Amino acid sequence: MQRLIEGVHKFQKDEFGNYRKLFRKLSKEGQNPHTLFITCSDSRVLAELITQSKPGDLFVVKNVGNIVPPASVRGDTNSTAAAIEFAVETLRVNDIVICGHSQCGAISAMLSKNPVSNSMPNLRDWLNVAAPVLATVKKDYAHLHGAIERETAAAEENVLFGLDNLHSYTCVQERLMDGTLRLHGWFFKIATAELFAYDPETRQFLPLVSETQ
Ligand SMILES: [Zn+2]
Repeated sequence: MQRLIEGVHKFQKDEFGNYRKLFRKLSKEGQNPHTLFITCSDSRVLAELITQSKPGDLFVVKNVGNIVPPASVRGDTNSTAAAIEFAVETLRVNDIVICGHSQCGAISAMLSKNPVSNSMPNLRDWLNVAAPVLATVKKDYAHLHGAIERETAAAEENVLFGLDNLHSYTCVQERLMDGTLRLHGWFFKIATAELFAYDPETRQFLPLVSETQ
């Protein structure tokens, strides 16, 4: 806790001055983020850092394993749905990014032969939302034997599962029909901080390139 408190003081003293005007403007005018960014709770995946975004730029959802449940999943397991509806309907973001990552604990738990301990029933139920990902990995990636290859395949399939599920939300469907919303699947490699984006044409995750290039 001491580290957090020291960080707060350091921010106020050294950094806030650079942001004073921006925070005042955002406080007065409200937020108008351009992107809903859905990523993992993992402490190594910092949406704002890796995209160099400022306060007000991203509406961020972090959950264990960056799982996007289908709209039909209700109740305790779908606070992510609430964030999707608010970002798409009220904030009218232009883009939704689902960003998976390497060395994801949720993905390795999903692939593990040992079931999640009974002492973590919420975690077990949450990971179970992404059970179709495990089925896809078993069906389509049986030829992969290395743990890293299987985890990467599962993390990427989990992103695609999330993109598919986004289509089950009425608000997302409407904005896609209007042509005012774009969906993106990303993968972040922790060791090198590289980002890969899903390319629907080649059906591969390719190094992220600027749209203006
Ligand atoms: Zn993770």
